[in-house]
This record gives sequence, C-alpha cells and structure tokens, in this order.
Amino acid sequence: MAEGKATPIVRRAASTPGRRRALKVAPRARAPLRANERKRFEGHVAEIFSRLGMELGSAGTKDTPRRHLQALWDLTLGYEGDPKVGTVFPRECRQCPEGEFEQTVEGPISFTSLCEHHGLPFDGHAWVGYLRNERIIGISKLTRIVRIYTRRFSLQERIAQEIVNALIALADPFGAAVYLEAKHSAPARAASTR
Ligand SMILES: [Zn+2]
Repeated sequence: MAEGKATPIVRRAASTPGRRRALKVAPRARAPLRANERKRFEGHVAEIFSRLGMELGSAGTKDTPRRHLQALWDLTLGYEGDPKVGTVFPRECRQCPEGEFEQTVEGPISFTSLCEHHGLPFDGHAWVGYLRNERIIGISKLTRIVRIYTRRFSLQERIAQEIVNALIALADPFGAAVYLEAKHSAPARAASTR
C-alpha cells in the first residue's frame, strides 16, 4: 500500500423520493469467531505476510497476524447491524410554520470501508440528509446508519443507495439524499484495470 497510487477523490450520490420500504439493517447474523477459527485464520495471515516478505516474529510483527485479523473483524462490524438504529421519533409538529420541507442534514461523517474488489480500506466522508415527514431519526442515528453500511466489504455506489434505503425505511421522508467522498488507495496496476 505504501507504493500504492491514490485514485482521485470520487463522488457518489444517490437520491430517491420518499417511500416506505422494509429495512434490512442486519441481512445476515454473524457469529463471533471461534478460538479454533481465530487460530487458523491468524495462521493464514502469517503465511501470506511471510511469503510477501514480512519478517514475522520481531517485537513489532509477532502479533501482526492477530492484529490484522482483529482489524478486519472490526472493519466489518456493520454486518452485525445496530439495534439502536431502529428508534425513530414522531415529528413534533406536523404543521410547522417553516413549511413541509424541513430538512435534516448531517455531515461530514467520517467512515472507513473495505473495497470489495481488493479487500483494502478506503476512507471518506458522508453527508446524509432527508426531508422530514412524520418521523424523525435522531442525529446520532444517522452516524450509526453510515457505520452499518460502511463497515463491510462494499462499494461507494452501494453504500450510498443502502443509506438512502435505510433513511426511507426508518423515517418515511419526503425525500432522502446521500453524498459520499472517499479516497481509495489501491496498487497502481489494479487501479488502472478497475
Ligand atoms: Zn478496490
């Protein structure tokens, strides 16, 4: 990755008129890693890193396979969903003087995701907004929603669409929009063939 060439900042946005949909926050449950799995996976990581050239066993690298596996696990916690996301509040005033298109916008929300093409991290920021209808999603929930869909193997286009779908399912808004800016550092050769 140190040799990797950063691709230019890319921008993705998705916008959809409000309509009710079922929300799948946790499409598949994920069991914790068992001790024997952990040991086996750390062995695979050690084998790969060693073959790539890493000197395993030094003070700095002896725990690297364990840390690498743990980092991958943490970066994919989005597969476990987030039980706190399901809460929405009724809008305080349906006939507010500001008019029907009150908006809630939150951002930048920083995120790190794993690109499903390379399995490598990409970092970015998300801006999330919706036009309130009868239900309100707490501001902190917007960050949680972003975390659910970025802490996975994914793509920017899919993340944007999944967040919009979640906003619609939770808040049934008049409209929702997501804007993502992210930078993916991939090896130059791979970047040229994407
Ligand atoms: Zn990639």
